[in-house]
Amino acid sequence: MGLFSSDTYYCTVCGGEAQSSNAEQCSQCGSVIHHRCLKNTGNAKKEGRFLRSDKVKLRCPDCGNVGSI
Ligand SMILES: [Zn+2]
Ligand SMILES: [Zn+2]
Repeated sequence: MGLFSSDTYYCTVCGGEAQSSNAEQCSQCGSVIHHRCLKNTGNAKKEGRFLRSDKVKLRCPDCGNVGSI
């Protein structure tokens, strides 16, 4: 997942305004998706079986690119 510039982005899933603090940008296709929308669409999954694991796998709903934060 890439870095944001200062422009305004719109979430691919819900169409709402997105900022770097509450969304991720796909490094492959540039789509921006809210963290909560990634969860709502099942595209954010914790890695491993342990709840304390804080590594989250993200999948872009547009191009299927997988990254982690
Ligand atoms: Zn959204
Ligand atoms: Zn993508």
